[in-house]
Amino acid sequence: MKKATRAVHAGAVPERNQGGINTPILTSSANEYLDDSEVRYPRYFNTFNHDVAAGKLCALENAEAGLVTSSGMAAISGIMVGLLRPGEHAIMLEGMYGGTHDLIVNEFRRLGIDFSLTTGDPDEIRSLVRPDTGLVFVESPTNPLLNVVDLAAVADIAREHSIVAAIDGTFATPILQNPIDHGFDLVAHSGTKYLGGHSDLCCGAVLGRGELIDRIRTHSLMYGGSLNAQDCYLLERSLKTLEVRVTRQSENASHLARTLLEMPGVAKVNYPGLPDHPGHEIARRQMKGFGAMLSFELEGGIDPVAYLRSLMLIPCAVSLGGVETIICQPVATSHERMPAEERDRLGIGPQLLRLSVGIEDVSDLAGDLRQAMNAVNGDRDQGTGNS
Ligand code: PLP
Repeated sequence: MKKATRAVHAGAVPERNQGGINTPILTSSANEYLDDSEVRYPRYFNTFNHDVAAGKLCALENAEAGLVTSSGMAAISGIMVGLLRPGEHAIMLEGMYGGTHDLIVNEFRRLGIDFSLTTGDPDEIRSLVRPDTGLVFVESPTNPLLNVVDLAAVADIAREHSIVAAIDGTFATPILQNPIDHGFDLVAHSGTKYLGGHSDLCCGAVLGRGELIDRIRTHSLMYGGSLNAQDCYLLERSLKTLEVRVTRQSENASHLARTLLEMPGVAKVNYPGLPDHPGHEIARRQMKGFGAMLSFELEGGIDPVAYLRSLMLIPCAVSLGGVETIICQPVATSHERMPAEERDRLGIGPQLLRLSVGIEDVSDLAGDLRQAMNAVNGDRDQGTGNS
């Protein structure tokens, strides 16, 4: 079945007693165990609604097994804490989502896990491999700069050295990118974003090789971080429209990237769909579309907060991936906790704004971005701008 069909039908277990066509929500936290080979309990990631949501995600990611978690960070930390032992070494992409970066730089030291940061260049990754390296973890495209990692090249290096290769695929979604098809062992998602898609759900998922998922589950169930039945249902329900949402959102993003490129006051646009983006060719090879996230830099004389306040349709808000377009300034949100020198080194400065493009009519979105720019450019011309 094609992705759009899988999104609607895969994994579903319709409620047959009343002839309903939707999956029922089974809320029991107490489950009889004598006639079941497995003890089922919500914290163990293995009740009915977990299985249904994970089954649909596995069908979309071409994965053998999966866990649905209470957040994206529960999924990401589950991979890292579940698979790495004290004394082991991991290779981590620099410039990932700030929360993941925090986990690596703060918690790894405490847990006795050593790590090297990489730009994502395959030759560099190869040179960082050590006999005790157990994991290579990347994000592609990255938050907020939309850098692209060559997935097949990284997976090849990991396989050669028997290292687990894992990726945060949140920005691409399983509709546009399937890292397992390129040789990755595990894919994590913040389901809070596109999988949920309506900015009303906090969840995550890890999908991949069955034996690794079992190991992650063994550890994660001790830390908590499972998802409740109602939210498993909401996730399954939301996934039915994932393909249509992401297709429309990506078309809108592609249009807005070109609009911003020509807008006075915009110094730079980061979007893998633009031909001069450094990762464009790799993205073309490994993605089925370029996604609905982009970031752009305002020229130095423009106050970014004044620009955000001048937008009338697009709210300035944290998170991303919902049906509504939102915008944020990463130095104040996703990367607020990253030291300023590190942000500057990566190119995440105060002029950088991140746009999560929704499903609205693109002409309304372009109009709002333009009218806000006219407003702040007018201020700048009259010397009233706060630069
Ligand atoms: N990965 C990426 C790329 C993100 O942008 C985020 C959150 O913004 C996360 C992971 C963490 O997800 P959650 O907030 O669901 O834990």
